[in-house]
Amino acid sequence: MSKLRFQAFREACSHSPKTVAVPNERPDKFFGKLVFTREKMKGYIADTMLNQLFDAIDNGKPLSRDIANSVAMGMKKWASELGATHYTHWFQPLTGGTAEKHDAFLDKTPEGHVLEEFSGKVLYQQEPDASSFPNGGIRNTFEARGYSAWDPTSPAFIVGDTLCIPTIFVAYTGEALDYKTPLIKSISAVSKAAVDVCRYFDRNVSKVTVFLGWEQEYFLVDKSLWLARPDLMLTGRTLMGHDSAKNQQLGDHYFGSIPERVLHFMTDLEIESLKLGIPVKTRHNEVAPNQFELAPIYEEANLANDHNLLLMSLMERIAHRHHFRVLLHEKPFAGVNGSGKHCNWSLATNTGVNLLAPGKNAAANLQFVTFLVNVLMAVYKHNGLLKASISSATNAHRLGANEAPPAIISVFLGKQLTDVLDKLEKASIDKGIAINAKKEMKLGVATIPEILLDNTDRNRTSPFAFTGNRFEFRAVGASANCGDAMLTLNAAVADQLINFKKEVDKRIEKGEPKERALFAVIKKYIADCKAIRFDGNSYSDAWKKEAAERGLDCETNVPLIFDRYLSPESIAMFKNTNVLSEAELQSRCEVKWDTYTKKIQIESRVLGDLVMNHIVPVANSYQSILLENVVRMKEAFDADEAKKLSAQDIVIIRRIAEHITTIVEKADEMLNLRREANHKIGERTKAIAYHDNIVPLMEEIRHHVDKLEMIVDDEMWTLPKYRELMFIK
Ligand code: ADP
Ligand code: MG
Repeated sequence: MSKLRFQAFREACSHSPKTVAVPNERPDKFFGKLVFTREKMKGYIADTMLNQLFDAIDNGKPLSRDIANSVAMGMKKWASELGATHYTHWFQPLTGGTAEKHDAFLDKTPEGHVLEEFSGKVLYQQEPDASSFPNGGIRNTFEARGYSAWDPTSPAFIVGDTLCIPTIFVAYTGEALDYKTPLIKSISAVSKAAVDVCRYFDRNVSKVTVFLGWEQEYFLVDKSLWLARPDLMLTGRTLMGHDSAKNQQLGDHYFGSIPERVLHFMTDLEIESLKLGIPVKTRHNEVAPNQFELAPIYEEANLANDHNLLLMSLMERIAHRHHFRVLLHEKPFAGVNGSGKHCNWSLATNTGVNLLAPGKNAAANLQFVTFLVNVLMAVYKHNGLLKASISSATNAHRLGANEAPPAIISVFLGKQLTDVLDKLEKASIDKGIAINAKKEMKLGVATIPEILLDNTDRNRTSPFAFTGNRFEFRAVGASANCGDAMLTLNAAVADQLINFKKEVDKRIEKGEPKERALFAVIKKYIADCKAIRFDGNSYSDAWKKEAAERGLDCETNVPLIFDRYLSPESIAMFKNTNVLSEAELQSRCEVKWDTYTKKIQIESRVLGDLVMNHIVPVANSYQSILLENVVRMKEAFDADEAKKLSAQDIVIIRRIAEHITTIVEKADEMLNLRREANHKIGERTKAIAYHDNIVPLMEEIRHHVDKLEMIVDDEMWTLPKYRELMFIK
């Protein structure tokens, strides 16, 4: 090992688990301690104001300035009591993370005194100087004003000494510059459309809630080793590194016992999460070494998404305390599993019915089948767009790679449900539906067995799977703001439900009985969207071929996948649901292309630097030693014997020389192609150039570097190797 590498390794091995200050109370006592919940508001805000606030939150009523002022006063008092001295509007720009600018509660009076100040106006709206947030051309710099506005549906919370107020972030002209705004709109759209459809079955339904339960996968790596890997530091993934002889082959990490150091990190993270009201529940080792997962109990989607973002930043902060770095990148290490963020999604009514859970009787099941089939139809129609919503430069390493969902969206239903839909499709409308004396509807098939609720027949290869009472969108990347995927799914389902209702109503208007009309449309949909259903092995090559024959979107080129946002169908769908306008879609695509380019550009630069400053010099030094050896052999032995004895050295010298030559050539070529790509006009064209020209070169260079790692004396290799990085001691 080189000296630097050895030092880093020794340090990494020397970290003992850090003790965590576990609160004296039971978790239910400190759960939400740092959140301004409804319960707590009661102690700080007058009842009359509170009722209006809750009405605004629950029913979307406008908020008056008076209410904002009362809430601001109450909020500040509560926060100050907990030691907060600052506040921030906490928002979700298109960078994918969260942004915050802290202001002290202090203000100056005209007389020069210092006053504690935090009014309704400040709570309500801020104008962050945000011209450097990505906006895709919506805000040119002379009209750089954007504002953040309070989202009262997500409670304020305290991190450190700062009161964080969840906000949306929009341009002065009204366009969304964040993920939260369209997510909230998509939730309203799908709620409204679902309520309208629910009313065929139950007139008491007045609200439908979207639920999201995410599962966050991540890697941990020791900080000392991380510091010795500039690629991990700057790009979040290793740009080079030969496989460790042992990685995940033995399957001994998944659900294995959690290393003590990691367990302490997890405990610390859980305590902090619980204080912030994040209902964390599950933790376990994942498949790859050093890979873990954390999942909370599902929540309303907007809140769940806020909680996921909060958790991601919390993870990074707490990892520091334990001398770790958390890697949220989808593929930090080649050759082992990548990290996703499975999004469990469902819809439930104010009457307590999960619309994606099979019911107890046939009537409830017709409602269940209605929603199930509409989701299938939405995913079918927008499969390319849904893929776009989860695509990124980082997730591209995961999609299509061996262990992850392929770059094709399909839905897994399981055998039982498939049978149900197949029977419904074949059933005759007249025979298939009959109302008996008890007004109980009978479908052409028996009621759906309850065993479905315990659907263990899971298919882990499916990117979008039905799991008994919800859908699980598994293709979402670990580092993503999953609001992007959720808003797309919500909007697609909302649009679909609107269309469904139109079709059913048209039939009813023509005199068809309601159940018959519903059944007829469902039957048609089952046949129409059959291509999206696939229960087989999604990772197989045969599926890629079959999916193409079925007409599913099989594009793998990420910049081209983003085009799906701008197809006439997508534009119409987002417009119809009022989730995103065409201008907003255009700007989002610009940001996506630009981000893609920048991520690859950074990686390519880091790779270029590393090969020239680390790899080539080290390989050259080793080569010189071998050359020296060959020369010495000639001095010590006669020509024939020297030749024989240095034969192996010469083979290695040649190999090193060949690898170095290729690496240097390719690095030069990469630099030139990067220059060329940077001169291209338009974000899309640039991103395509990076995808087509730079990515393949990076892979090629890596191949040669990894070969060198195998040849060069371990003493001399400066960068920590996979076998050191991937196992926490
Ligand atoms: P698995 O890894 O087997 O898929 P987990 O227990 O890790 O399961 O995660 C399941 C996630 O799904 C949790 O976040 C859970 O709260 C969530 N979930 C369960 N039921 C629903 C539902 N009806 N709607 C949305 N999410 C749900
Ligand atoms: Mg899951």
